[in-house]
Amino acid sequence: MNPTTTPREIVVIGAGIVGMACASFIQRAGHRVTVLDRGAPGEGTSFGNAGGLNGSSVVPIAMPGVLSQVPRWLLDPEGPLVLRWRYLPALAPWLWRFVRAGQPEKVAAQARALRALLGSTFESYAPLIKAAGAEDLVHRAGHLTVYKSEASFAKDARAMDLRRTNGVVVDDLSFDELRQLEPGLSRDFLRGRMIAETGHVGDPHRLVTRLAEAFTRDGGTIRREAVRGFEFADGAVTGVRGESGLHRADHVVLAAGAWSKNLARQLGDSVPLDTERGYHVVLRDPETMPRRPIGSADGKFFATPMDMGLRVAGTVEFAGLDAPPDWRRSRMLLRQAQDMFPALARDIGDERISMWMGFRPSMPDSLPVIGPSRRYANAFHAFGHGHVGLIGGAMTGRIVAALVDGTAPPIDIAPFRVDRF
Ligand SMILES: Cc1cc2nc3c(=O)[nH]c(=O)nc-3n(C[C@H](O)[C@H](O)[C@H](O)COP(=O)(O)OP(=O)(O)OC[C@H]3O[C@@H](n4cnc5c(N)ncnc54)[C@H](O)[C@@H]3O)c2cc1C
Repeated sequence: MNPTTTPREIVVIGAGIVGMACASFIQRAGHRVTVLDRGAPGEGTSFGNAGGLNGSSVVPIAMPGVLSQVPRWLLDPEGPLVLRWRYLPALAPWLWRFVRAGQPEKVAAQARALRALLGSTFESYAPLIKAAGAEDLVHRAGHLTVYKSEASFAKDARAMDLRRTNGVVVDDLSFDELRQLEPGLSRDFLRGRMIAETGHVGDPHRLVTRLAEAFTRDGGTIRREAVRGFEFADGAVTGVRGESGLHRADHVVLAAGAWSKNLARQLGDSVPLDTERGYHVVLRDPETMPRRPIGSADGKFFATPMDMGLRVAGTVEFAGLDAPPDWRRSRMLLRQAQDMFPALARDIGDERISMWMGFRPSMPDSLPVIGPSRRYANAFHAFGHGHVGLIGGAMTGRIVAALVDGTAPPIDIAPFRVDRF
């Protein structure tokens, strides 16, 4: 604890990876912290992600090369991107910003900001992992991206160059080198790229529950309660209104992931937050397991070796927060995994698989919102991490803890400010 810090009451909304990382770092700075979540910790989007701890994930989703592929993807029901057309009117303003975010000079700036947020993911998590006794969940074996054709290998060069420009070491692999690293990979994959600095989490849900356990053990409070709004006095937030009543607060942190938009509006900020829904399928007792996460450049999914089995996760579906899941997306991921790893059984019974859908909290420029609200200096936003919330959770927590204490954040937070649109 900073010796000059006076303990204060902090309320964090959301017990996903971002909320729990914020709560943990604020607690370590010596404050009394209450986390409010309508569900149990880690049961939102943080439950079922691909587990990638890739500090190399600096490439924004809206890249010039990506945008040109979107029309083709949208016409292919088995493609990595689907849009439920009924949702298009609601999504249109977001899409417009998304397209504009893909201009080359903006992309370069977004990538720099993402590298600062994500590049030190292992170092940033280290104190929390140690306190939570969660070392067994974190693996550092790098990750592979694999390609079925020279054309798709070449198409990805621009994104890889953006990584290299930001200090990421990327190794291009031949057919034989790929086989040596991952013998179980289908011979349909002709080329690969290895990024060695990265790692993965063996069970992302368990990571959040371990952080939550350590947080409560060290005196923090987690309450299962939906948040409805705030109380204000003299130009400041003074409390958070939950289902059971008012929780007094000196500072408030909004980390409600994809559901943050309405609460942000109550704090005076209108944000273009939408959701890129993603799916996973977990195959228990797989006949083969990769040694490290393998990403398909064409399918836009990752196959990650996890504690509970082989998890295949990814793809994007634009359909908002209310539409029911389309489990054909998970089944498609299973077929793609069978294609990637020929040793997997062709006929896999439902008892061996589990399927999941989650809501990525997505901003059109692929950057989260981190920092004070425009109207209330004692309310901080920490949401909108899109595809990289697991990677960026710890640095977000470090930033928010510094803001609560009024000290300089560890990185420049200007790119993440709420009024950038
Ligand atoms: C298929 C898929 C694969 C992914 N792979 C990766 C990956 O490999 N690496 C990576 O870094 N990221 C990945 N992501 C993204 C990552 O999972 C998210 O960015 C991250 O989980 C967001 O965390 P969060 O804490 O902001 O949100 P959440 O985990 O969704 O937590 C938000 C919490 O807020 C609570 N909440 C919402 N509204 C209220 C309210 N009104 N009152 C009380 N509580 C409320 C919810 O119950 C929830 O628990 C992936 C996502 C998907 C879908």
